[in-house]
This record gives sequence, C-alpha cells and structure tokens, in this order.
Amino acid sequence: MPENRNTTSTSTPRQLRNWAGNLTYRAARIHRPTTVSEVQEIVAGSERVKVLGSRHCFNDIADTTADLVVLDALDPEVEIDRLGGGGTGTAWVSGGTRYSQLVPELAEHGLALPNLASLPHITVVGATATGTHGSGNRNGSLSTSVAGLEMVGSDGAVIALGPEEPDFPGAVVHLGALGIVTRIGLRVQPTFDVHNTVYLGLTWDRLFTDLDAVADAAYSVSVFTDWHDVTQVWVKSRTEDLDVAPEEFFGARAATAPTHMLKDMPVENLTEQLGVPGEWHERLPHFRAGFTPSRGEELQSEYFVPRRHGRGACEALRAMADRIAPLLQVSEIRTVAADELWLSPAHGGDVLALHFTWVPDQTRVVALLPEIEAALRPYAARPHWGKLFTTDAGELESLYPRMPDFRALVRRLDPRGAFRNAYLDRTVHAFG
Ligand SMILES: Cc1cc2nc3c(=O)[nH]c(=O)nc-3n(C[C@H](O)[C@H](O)[C@H](O)COP(=O)(O)OP(=O)(O)OC[C@H]3O[C@@H](n4cnc5c(N)ncnc54)[C@H](O)[C@@H]3O)c2cc1C
Repeated sequence: MPENRNTTSTSTPRQLRNWAGNLTYRAARIHRPTTVSEVQEIVAGSERVKVLGSRHCFNDIADTTADLVVLDALDPEVEIDRLGGGGTGTAWVSGGTRYSQLVPELAEHGLALPNLASLPHITVVGATATGTHGSGNRNGSLSTSVAGLEMVGSDGAVIALGPEEPDFPGAVVHLGALGIVTRIGLRVQPTFDVHNTVYLGLTWDRLFTDLDAVADAAYSVSVFTDWHDVTQVWVKSRTEDLDVAPEEFFGARAATAPTHMLKDMPVENLTEQLGVPGEWHERLPHFRAGFTPSRGEELQSEYFVPRRHGRGACEALRAMADRIAPLLQVSEIRTVAADELWLSPAHGGDVLALHFTWVPDQTRVVALLPEIEAALRPYAARPHWGKLFTTDAGELESLYPRMPDFRALVRRLDPRGAFRNAYLDRTVHAFG
C-alpha cells in the first residue's frame, strides 16, 4: 500500500554539533523521516540535502546549508538472509542503524561481522561511506562487508546496487555524494570468540625489525605510541587460532591490570582485556557501547600508507615527535587489508594506518597537519575521509587512481548536485 501520511518531523537546528564539538552544522532545517517515501519527498523538495549519521566525523563531510536528514526513525528491524547451512548470509538494516543496534541482533543469531571499529556507536552507513576500519591483515575495512545498497537518488527514485553492478565498487565508500542510503546489506559469518591482551615495553628497534611479524601476529593488532616510545600493543586473537595469550610478545610483557591507551581515563569504558575470551563484538571494539568512547574531548586525524612504506613513514613521524607531542593524546598504528573499492584508503594494496588522537585545539592541530602531510608525502599517504586533513583535491587525485571514475559516477547519479557540499567541492571536485 502506498504510504501517504507524512510523519516527518522537521525542525530548525540550534547549535547542532558533531560528536567532538569542533563543528556546528549550518543546515537551515533538520528532517526526521519515518518512511522511504518521506525521504523521497524531502530529496525532491530540496536544493541541497545531506544525511547525518551519528556525527562522529571530525570535519564538514556531513554538513550542508539547506536540509539535513536523520534516519534514526526509519524501521530499525534487522533482516537476515541466510545462505546455505553454514550460517553465513547478509544482514540488512535501515540507513540510520548504528553498529551498537545491529551487533546484539547478529550475536543472538550466532552471526558475526569480520571486524569493527574502535567504537560501536557509529552508524553502519556513515562508517562504510568513509572507509572506517579496525585492524588486521586478514581484515578489510568495514566497507568491504557491504553486500548491497538501496539509495534515494537526486531525482527521488530508489536505486538498488549490488556487487554484480559495475558501479558498486565506486558506490560503497561514497562520502555521502551519491544519494541517501535507506537500506544497507552486510555480509555476515558464523560467530567467533576473541581475547585481548595488552603488552608493555615493546621497543622501536624490535618493532622495526619485525614490523610485518608484529602486525600479522594476531587477528587484530594495535600499536600505541607518542612517537617517542611505543607505549602499548593490543593483541586481539581469535580463540581458535590461539587458546591462551603468551606472557611475552616480541620482548614486551603482558599487562597485569586493564590498561587504557589514554592517560588518566577510567578503564570501565574499555572492552575486557587480560586475555579473557569473549564474543567478537565484546572484544574487537576498544570501547564499550553505552560509555563515552576514547576521551570525548579530542580531535582526530589518520593517514594510510602502503605497508611497504610503513617503516619509512613511522621514522618520518618519529623525527617530528617533539613537534607532535604538545598536541597529541595518543597515536595508534593498525593495518587494513587491500580492497578494490574506488575511494577506500586501502584501494589496491595493504596499508598501515597511522592515527592521531589530538587535544581539542583545532587551530594548532590544523596548523600542524600540513607539516605531517609533507613528512608523509614520499609515502603516498591517503587521509581518513572522516577526520581532519588538509590534503587538497589535486593530491587526492594522484592518490586515488579511480577518482575520475568516482567524479563521473557522482555527475551521473546526482546531475543537479543535490548532495554536493563544501567538503565534496574541496576533495572530489565533481562539479568543476
Ligand atoms: C571516538 C571515535 C573513534 C573512532 N574510531 C575509528 C576507528 O576505529 N576506525 C576508523 O576508521 N574511524 C574511526 N572513527 C571515525 C568514524 O568511524 C567515522 O568518522 C565515521 O564516518 C563516523 O560515522 P557516522 O555515523 O558518525 O557518520 P557521519 O559523520 O554522521 O557521516 C559521515 C558521512 O556519511 C554520510 N552518511 C551517513 N549516513 C548516510 C546515509 N544513510 N546515506 C547517505 N550518506 C550517509 C554523511 O552525509 C557523511 O557524508 C572514530 C571516530 C570517533 C569520534
């Protein structure tokens, strides 16, 4: 039956900010539709429209001057298409669903996702649209789990895209440029258990001698540093690969108490450590749903370099440790497996991800970024689409061989520029 009752709530946002509080959205109106038809009406009636996920990006990627759409009132039901007897298949959720809503449903069905980011608070579409990742040489970014998309295009019609479509690898990491995703499918697999052990005392010498071996030693490895020292290593192993975590890891010793990667923060916010096994979704994120992830008062940047450049890029940052230290809370080094998604930071090869949690001083952080980007330029560093960076469109073009194809896709799916914003004008240049 056609839906003809308009139940969208529309309001004028006052001082609506992103999670970090470093950006106030400029939209004139904010809409909260409850059905796909209402989304279609909003798009058809708007000159410029963007979706707001959980607002965890640190830049203006989701901002617009006209209409913002929040999809958390769409039907939140998780639909699972099972394939065969192996318990695998696809889980479908609506466009505003957060991982923290999806994951308990999957767990109840004995299903899992291959990976999660450091926090489950973010939306599935917002995360996969920006190439959000966890860690592990066997793991692609969260975007690589996407099995299908349903979007409202700029003419108001619904478009369905699956892996068989030639545009699909261009449409998954979409930066919000192609349409409003109302439904997304993720490939799922049978559940698995993980344990996390934190190690202290790894030296740079040992890390550089064995960089690949350290990164590949477990299902998910995170190295934390202040660029003077390696401060911690978090080693998350699947129980079927390793029953009990060893006391020693490349010369580092297992911590004997739960350990936060940030100074003076309560460990209650963290998922369980000390090698205690638990379900994938209770160990792969660093931070627990229901608690503030990380510190809350912070900014973030991240750059991805091909793994063969890992040591060179780390050495370049170590040489800047004194410049970085006054603004840094912590850095994290992870790995992401290669994929073929056009705008994925891991497009075309395995990468090392070099992350910075900064103090909340936007002016000084943004002033330092060009120096970091210059130091990393010889290593072909791609910035995280959802964090702070100053890399310009010309350089992004040289870093992403499929950028011209993405621009053509934007112009084809959104010829009137309904989903265009200042961020896309700066980074993608789809409209010249
Ligand atoms: C504490 C913290 C920890 C983090 N940890 C990690 C990490 O471990 N790994 C990592 O890679 N990143 C991490 N991030 C970054 C974060 O994952 C990304 O910024 C992600 O994009 C945030 O998702 P969101 O739902 O908040 O998206 P938003 O910021 O709300 O939106 C992101 C983009 O997606 C678009 N969008 C959202 N929903 C839709 C839709 N339905 N249809 C069309 N477009 C849509 C928006 O318009 C925008 O362009 C972290 C961020 C924070 C604050």
